[in-house]
Amino acid sequence: MANFRFIALEKTINCPVPEISYPSNKVSDYFGSMTFNETAMREYLTDEAFRVVEKAVRQGERIDRKIVDQIASAMKAWAMSKGVTHYTHWFHPLTGSTAEKHDAFINPVGGGKALEDFQGSSLVQQEPDASSFPSGGIRNTFEARGYTAWDPTSPAFILEHTLCIPTIFISYTGESLDYKTPLLRSMKALDDIATKVCRYFDKNVGKVYPTLGWEQEYFLVDAALYSARPDLILTGQTVFGHSSAKDQQLSDHYFGTIHDRALAFMQDMEIEAHKLGIPLKTRHNEVAPSQFECAPVFEEVNIAVDHNQLLMHLLDKVARRHRFKVLLHEKPYAGVNGSGKHNNWSLATDTGLNLLSPGKTLKDNFRFIAFLVNILKAVHDNEELIRASIASEGNDLRLGANEAPPAIISVFIGEQITRTLHEIEKMPSRKSFNHNHNEKDHQINIPKIPEILFDNTDRNRTSPFAFTGNKFEFRAVGSSANTGKPMFILNTIMADQLQQFKKDVDGLMASGAKKDDAIFNVVKSYIKASKKICFEGNSYSDAWVEEAAKRGLSNNRKTPEALAAFISGKTIALFERQQVMSETELRARYEIKLEKYTKKLQIESRVLGDLAINHILPTAIQYQNRLIENARGLKEVLDSKSFVKLSRNQLNTIKEISDHIASIKELWQKMIEARKVANRIKGSFEQAMAYRDKVLPFFDTIRYHVDKLELLVDDELWPLPKYRELLFIK
Ligand code: ADP
Ligand code: MG
Repeated sequence: MANFRFIALEKTINCPVPEISYPSNKVSDYFGSMTFNETAMREYLTDEAFRVVEKAVRQGERIDRKIVDQIASAMKAWAMSKGVTHYTHWFHPLTGSTAEKHDAFINPVGGGKALEDFQGSSLVQQEPDASSFPSGGIRNTFEARGYTAWDPTSPAFILEHTLCIPTIFISYTGESLDYKTPLLRSMKALDDIATKVCRYFDKNVGKVYPTLGWEQEYFLVDAALYSARPDLILTGQTVFGHSSAKDQQLSDHYFGTIHDRALAFMQDMEIEAHKLGIPLKTRHNEVAPSQFECAPVFEEVNIAVDHNQLLMHLLDKVARRHRFKVLLHEKPYAGVNGSGKHNNWSLATDTGLNLLSPGKTLKDNFRFIAFLVNILKAVHDNEELIRASIASEGNDLRLGANEAPPAIISVFIGEQITRTLHEIEKMPSRKSFNHNHNEKDHQINIPKIPEILFDNTDRNRTSPFAFTGNKFEFRAVGSSANTGKPMFILNTIMADQLQQFKKDVDGLMASGAKKDDAIFNVVKSYIKASKKICFEGNSYSDAWVEEAAKRGLSNNRKTPEALAAFISGKTIALFERQQVMSETELRARYEIKLEKYTKKLQIESRVLGDLAINHILPTAIQYQNRLIENARGLKEVLDSKSFVKLSRNQLNTIKEISDHIASIKELWQKMIEARKVANRIKGSFEQAMAYRDKVLPFFDTIRYHVDKLELLVDDELWPLPKYRELLFIK
């Protein structure tokens, strides 16, 4: 019988490292060459059309139908000059990945001929028969059709000779069926109110937009070894595998020299990314063996989210050429670090300000503190919703596992800012502060802030939401997530918070307070009100779990209970107030997420059962038979006294193997029973909870016995590539 593990191992040895050829010596020569960016638009569009697109991008103005035809024809000409034959609307359905349906440019013109054709109508809107995408019941209840509509704020790009047009995806009745629609709506809500708040400080601000710089973690595994692991193929993670004698204990992979196979892959992937305008900048080894990270320069959040989705696709695509598979799962291997996607988030203005950057003047710092404190308050008031925004079955395995932030949301702001907020809190009034600290200055004086930029080294890596000098880093996001979701939730809670802030400040001003006093007093009250969300200590510790419980912070460890925050009365009111999502949309998403959770566990449970019964048990029995044969042989050749003495080891192993086999069989049968019961449950929440409480616990108990067998059974017989093989690139 062929052992695929050994065939695979042989293939990994001397795997060639492909030669990388850069399109040019300078990245700037080809950066963005595959996007319909400003340069391409200037070349292909009339001045009038260019100005219209620019306005649509900058101010969100609608594009006139006539101009749309011009743009479509320019896009087609540009794309054809690069060998493009097809076009597709490219969108982010609720599956979490991206979707495309390609159409050729050709249009028959009679006489057996065809011409390239691409009308404005095809650019603006399409009706893909996308009825199999999750809609959480929206399209059953209302109308089966789903539409995609062009998002001119994100540039069209070329992938595999296909022109990809970023779009939103909505139902016939306007409900969003994707991640992008609520993201765009949340940006509008945030812009409207944040601009008004900015004007308390600076009359010139005309627009505020969120920025995002993501850091994507991933694992590389040799494609041949991957193919010999059905669990990796079907679930993206290993369900079995005894830990390798050496993995990450020596921290010798973290920031180490990048293996030449991995480096070639990264270089190749970066070329593709740069052509698509993704500003990738950083690459390095991560903590676990074969774990890596890449990060771009931050961008406006909508573009950054598109770029992250595109990058996840590129990772997969380029990996094939290098005989690798990329694992984006949050926890592909037990016992070593999992993967996250750190989301660096800030707010920028059209006047070039970063609102979370402490400035040089007192006025700037007053603004900085006001925005910062509003974020604290927003996170404080919505911690459960933030937890819900990153909930997934994969992330459950990572959060709180001593290597990633826990399922408890808290904010880290660093020693200096903590001290500053504390001082503000104690001041009886703005004036008394001025009197005490800076008699000459009539502005509010907040000491030490300008130094923050130079002194943010006390970064707390254990916090799920940390201030890192000029941005917040949301670290609890899972590596495979469409990051549009945590982003639209962050934008929305911030928009709502700023609205409250403006109301509070205006209220005080209406009763006679001066503007700066009003702001000061509201900020002060928010500092008091959001105290319990701030935590500067070690978030990975058990002490924090206890302390957080005392503070009344939630700790929703697993996805089903975490998701409940999506449909609370408070959340529904918040999203409706900000016009980001309706109750129907929220409920639909809640259903989809629960269903996905259940299905993922169902698949994992089946894969685990299949591997245990069809791969592991037969192997264990085969080895056991060898031992039995050996014992029989010993009995034949030895006298009975020597036999008792010398066969003890074999007999013990035979017994041990029998025990593990019996346990696996028994647990497997119980798991199937539990699954059957769970499958019959009607409500999606109850069903997800049944999977969580009754099916999931078997994964670890079955695994325990399988991993023990891995240590007992002859290495030559073991069918699945082992951790020591998967984790180290040859
Ligand atoms: P670290 O690994 O130390 O957290 P990195 O340098 O790897 O830091 O990543 C920092 C990320 O933060 C980068 O993507 C960077 O572009 C991004 N970033 C920097 N400033 C901002 C900002 N104002 N808004 C959003 N993201 C930012
Ligand atoms: Mg980081």
